[in-house]
Amino acid sequence: MKSHGYAAHDKKSPLVPFNFDRREPGPNDVVVEIAYCGICHSDIHQVRDEWGQSIYPMVPGHEIVGHVTAVGSSVTKFKKGDLAGVGVMVDSCRICENCKAEAQPYCVKGMVGTYNARDYKGELTFGGYSNNIVVDEKYTFTISPKLNLAAVAPLLCAGITTYSPLRHWNVGKGKKVGVVGLGGLGHMGLKFAHSFGAHVVQFTTSESKIEDAKKLGADEVVITKDPSALAKHAGSFDFILDCVSAQHNLNDYLNLLRLDGTLCSVGLPEQPLSIAPFAILANRRSLSGSMIGGMAETQEMLDYCAEHNIVSDIELTSIDKLAEAYERVLKGDVKYRFVIDMATLPVK
Ligand code: NAP
Ligand code: ZN
Ligand code: ZN
Repeated sequence: MKSHGYAAHDKKSPLVPFNFDRREPGPNDVVVEIAYCGICHSDIHQVRDEWGQSIYPMVPGHEIVGHVTAVGSSVTKFKKGDLAGVGVMVDSCRICENCKAEAQPYCVKGMVGTYNARDYKGELTFGGYSNNIVVDEKYTFTISPKLNLAAVAPLLCAGITTYSPLRHWNVGKGKKVGVVGLGGLGHMGLKFAHSFGAHVVQFTTSESKIEDAKKLGADEVVITKDPSALAKHAGSFDFILDCVSAQHNLNDYLNLLRLDGTLCSVGLPEQPLSIAPFAILANRRSLSGSMIGGMAETQEMLDYCAEHNIVSDIELTSIDKLAEAYERVLKGDVKYRFVIDMATLPVK
């Protein structure tokens, strides 16, 4: 199937228009005409090969929403015209213990990423900075028409990546929870933790975000440049979700955990972060990570958002302004997620 979008051809050049082929839809596939695609910081890490595993040409984008334009003969979940969403993964083996347990991101065979990956036939996958996508219905989500569609797009990565660990560690009423970094992931983590009833403390390097953080649900906001502001919270948190994209000191946050508290890092900085063993030994603390969420949990999150009227705070941008959007994300200057309006993609 003919597709077109924007691609990176190496780690330094700007993204440019790109024509490519997707597989012809099979019996279980849906074809989604993409209306909006979010810009995740992972797109920037991968375009710039900061994780050392980039494959070019790369069409990024894994926060995808749009309308179904065709369905295969065996598809039951969608019909033509329905809204649909696609996130960070488009396939997994389906038979390993993790897939069977609805933990598909941890598929033993390795999940298939929406872009910058090879499917099980060895074909390169291409993401959502494009006009359409072909995905098996099992890896495609239903979207409520109640919500603003553009603002739903970031739920497919930023949403589920924060929802899943908050659920896994039972964040809710009576728990003191920290969110580190008020970016795309952080602002969704803040919204969910608040919605689940926790006492939420937002940590930020940006004084300009204090008022926003409160509006988004923070009970307290801590400016992390001030060591005494951090020290006031020593040993008091049940759970901290670290959403920072760059180098920072994890030990500063580990020290804030109470007995048996957990710091879960979802951020993926380019370089390793160092841990002081004393920071985890004290209070028998745990340090963990978490990767997006399973298919059933992603649908549960989308349904939860529809029920509780939760979407991302977004700034719409056009496909020809990617370079500017990337620069602003890197400066922390986006409130709080860029979403590309795919109507701005030139018609082929
Ligand atoms: P983002 O929108 O750029 O947000 C990152 C935030 O981190 C910034 O807004 C800033 O918040 C803070 N920050 C940036 N540089 C910092 C520094 N040097 N020191 C301290 N804080 C800093 O990025 P995102 O899209 O939310 O993604 C965040 C990270 O999660 C990325 O590394 C991304 O690749 C990763 N990710 C992981 C998964 C997963 O499955 N685990 C999924 C998606 C993304 P303040 O201004 O508030 O300080
Ligand atoms: Zn992402
Ligand atoms: Zn599997």
